[in-house]
Formats: sequence, structure tokens, C-alpha cells
Amino acid sequence: MPKKKEKDYDVIIVGAGIAGCVLGFHLANARIKVKVIEKKSEDNLFEDWCDSIEKKAFAFAGIQAPKGDEIREERDHLAILTPDLQTTIHLGYYDYWIVDRKLFHQRLLSDAEKAGCEFLFETEIVEPMGKGMWVIGVKTKEGIIHNARMIVDCSGKERILGMNIEILDLNLKPNKSDIINAYREIHKINSKELNWGEHEIKQNTLYYRHGYYGGYNWLNFLKEDEIDIGACVGKSITNKSPKGMVNDFVNSNAIIDNKKLRGGGDRIIIRRPITLVWYGFMLVGQAACQTISTNGCGIGSAMIASKIAAEVIVAAVKRKEVSIDSLWEYQVRFTKERGRDLAANDILRLGLQKLNEDDTSFLMRKKIVTRIDLENMIHAKFRKITLLRTIITAFKGIKRIKLMLFVRKLTTQANKIFKHYKNLPKEYNTRRYHEWLLRSMQLFKEIEDLEPDFVGNI
Ligand SMILES: Cc1cc2nc3c(=O)[nH]c(=O)nc-3n(C[C@H](O)[C@H](O)[C@H](O)COP(=O)(O)OP(=O)(O)OC[C@H]3O[C@@H](n4cnc5c(N)ncnc54)[C@H](O)[C@@H]3O)c2cc1C
Repeated sequence: MPKKKEKDYDVIIVGAGIAGCVLGFHLANARIKVKVIEKKSEDNLFEDWCDSIEKKAFAFAGIQAPKGDEIREERDHLAILTPDLQTTIHLGYYDYWIVDRKLFHQRLLSDAEKAGCEFLFETEIVEPMGKGMWVIGVKTKEGIIHNARMIVDCSGKERILGMNIEILDLNLKPNKSDIINAYREIHKINSKELNWGEHEIKQNTLYYRHGYYGGYNWLNFLKEDEIDIGACVGKSITNKSPKGMVNDFVNSNAIIDNKKLRGGGDRIIIRRPITLVWYGFMLVGQAACQTISTNGCGIGSAMIASKIAAEVIVAAVKRKEVSIDSLWEYQVRFTKERGRDLAANDILRLGLQKLNEDDTSFLMRKKIVTRIDLENMIHAKFRKITLLRTIITAFKGIKRIKLMLFVRKLTTQANKIFKHYKNLPKEYNTRRYHEWLLRSMQLFKEIEDLEPDFVGNI
């Protein structure tokens, strides 16, 4: 039985990660009474490594761009290597900051606190509390209930509230193919001359080896004498540990010091977003599956979503109307800003993950997957793939007809899903949204169910 009832808040956020802190900051700034409940202690909250964060997310989310020690590198160049390490594609731009994640997260938390957002650490939430269709509170492990007019799940990959609400796709358990295991370490390096396969690693460039074990590895000089080494692998593709891959790379390069300076890892959900709102309830950040599925970056999306969510919550709380109809605007605005691009790119990711490394390398070597495709995927953008492009592509890959048919199926489906997401109902209507959601699921299932023997050479 619940032990006691705590005083009411306008909004309770579960999780003090990036999404929870940005949302808490904006709500408190708008004089909304908000509390963030976090299971970790404040000392253990911050990841100790460096992340790539989309520059545009700062401006969009109204968060000051990183400066001083927070910026680890002004990296504007990204090179993508094929899985077989034979070909390099240099992207025209890389619109990300390389940020000290710990300092950045500490700043977000401190700014939220200064704005008046309350934090409760070392308190694990186990489930949402409901009344009829409404989410009205959360319960801690110790059985204490915290109530608020609105509850927001920012619990990252745990999705602790969503997982316990059996409505629509809120309690969706990601497929194995929607999960990657990620790991990164920073090491001292005592020479500028480093090779990856045949490739000389330049200091001004971030290198991604794309499509390797259904994920990607990367190398990035942070300073002249430090290097960030990382790996992500698809959970459905291999049991290989990304930590093992990073360690193998370190051990096979004598110029890299064995001692890890910083680093860590975790699993990341890399699928398109789920439903974002319910009665008195929202999900933001990784809890809502808003990560860019083609590179595992989720911080920019979490910041963008938090800003939109905050604006919608402020208006809804002020008019005392937090029903799904009132909160639907968040679903519509996020979908337009990036949800539809995430979804269309997720079709491409799902399909490309089914290919073997030889086929993936072939597509990139032959420029069937072009530099512009890669730039778009990395920056969470999708551009409709035209018939002319399809014909040129088919010609370039004439020697691998089955593979070309597969690519054609993927691009057609990505176009379809993008169009479908453009037709998301602008107002919440149970029947129309159910139909829309079912159709989305069907379109994805067609790609999820494609048999691997569809792929390959003739
Ligand atoms: C190795 C690695 C490298 C990465 N590199 C990048 C990168 O370069 N760029 C990028 O954009 N993204 C990167 N990511 C992804 C990025 O970390 C996530 O997208 C981002 O943290 C999502 O933010 P969030 O606020 O949604 O969730 P999180 O940051 O995961 O925050 C969720 C919070 O909720 C808390 N919580 C969970 N369950 C409960 C509960 N039951 N009760 C109370 N609190 C709870 C957690 O303790 C956590 O503090 C990387 C991830 C990994 C693992």
C-alpha cells in the first residue's frame, strides 16, 4: 500500500538526464511548479565522456551554445568509411559540436535549479499512478506517491512510465533490431600518425566506419594528444561487445596509451518515435524513442522535443486542460520538426542493417548511397527519393540486381512513410489516430519482415 501522499506539483518529470533538465529549465522559467525525480545520486548522474551534439538543437531549444571548457573540439569534418575499410566518403559538412558531456549536463542541471526547478535524487520511480484514463502521479520504490497535474517520462531507455501504460504503443518493448550497444573511451595518444586500415587518420576529421556489425565504430582526435574511440553494435546482429572492440583497437596500436582517461557505455534505442502524449502525460527524449537511428545521437532530439513539450505544457497547465486533445500539439509539432525525418530514415536504417558488410560497402563505393544521403541521415533529415534517382541508382548497381530491388523497396517505403507522417491527424481523434498508427506499423512491418535471402548477388 502507498505510504503517504506528497504535495501536488504542476508537473513531475521522471529522469534528470538531458531531456529532464532542459524541460525542467523551461517549465520553471515559465513559473510552472515542477519537480524532477531521479534515481541516481547527483554525484553519479553525469556521463564522463565527450559527445557530438547538433548545433541547431541549441538555438532551437533556447539553450546557450557550449563555450570554454565545454567545447572539446570545433569539428566540422566527418569522413565515413565503408565496413570493409576500402572507401572513404567525405561529408560536405558536420553540423555538430564535440562537447564535454559531463560539464554540459552539469550546466543544464544548474540552470534548471537556478530557474526554480526542484530535484529529488536517489528516488527510483517504479510505476505511474492512474485514475480512469488519466495519469495523475508516480510511485517510488518505497511506495511513496507524488502527484501532479502533468507527469512526463524522461527516464531514457528505461521508459519506466510508458512501459507501464498499456495504451496505444506507449508500452512498446523495442525489438532486438531497435537496440544498439554503445561504448566509448578517451585515451592519450603519443603520435599524430595513426592509421585505420589503409586510411591515415587526420586530426581535423571525425571518422565513422558505418555499417559494421549493424552499427558503427568511430575515431576522433580531441586534442593533439587525446583520442575518442567508440563502437556501437546492433543487438540483433552480434553478441560482440563494443567495449571489446574498443579495447582491441587500443591494444593493437602501440601509440595509444592503454590507460582509459574517461569513458563508458550503455544500450541505445534507435527506432522511430512512439506516441508522445496521453491524458496528463508526455514522453520526451529517449523515453519517446527520439534518437537519430542512423548514428545513435539523441541529445539534439531530446533538447528539441523538450522545448516543444515545455511550450505545450505551459499553455495547457495555464488553461487547466491537460487532456490528450490539449497536449496533441506536441505530437504534431515534433513530428513536423523531426519525427517524420526520423521515421523515414529509420526505414533506411532497418533495411541497411539487413545487408551484409560486402553489400553495404558496395552501395557506398558505387555512390548508390551518396554523400548527400549520408549527410542527411547524420543530420536527421530526409529528402524524397525521386524516380530519376531510382533509375540512376539501378544503373550503377546493375551487377547486383537483387540488391538494387531491395534498395528500391527501401526508398519507396521511406517515401511512403514520410508522406504518411505528413498526414498525421492535426487534431486528436481516437479513430483517426488508431488508423494512422496501424498504417505506420504496417509500413514498418513490411521492411522488418523482408527476408534476408532477398538480398545479395545474382
Ligand atoms: C556510449 C554512448 C555514446 C553516446 N554518444 C552520443 C553522442 O555523441 N551524441 C548524442 O547526441 N547522443 C549520444 N548518445 C545517446 C545519448 O546519451 C542519449 O540520446 C541521451 O542521453 C538521451 O537523453 P534522455 O534525457 O532522453 O535520457 P538519459 O540521458 O538516459 O536520462 C534518463 C534519466 O532517467 C533516469 N531514470 C531512469 N529510470 C528511472 C526511474 N525508474 N526513476 C527515476 N529516474 C530514472 C536515469 O538515471 C537518467 O538519469 C550516446 C549514448 C551512449 C551510451
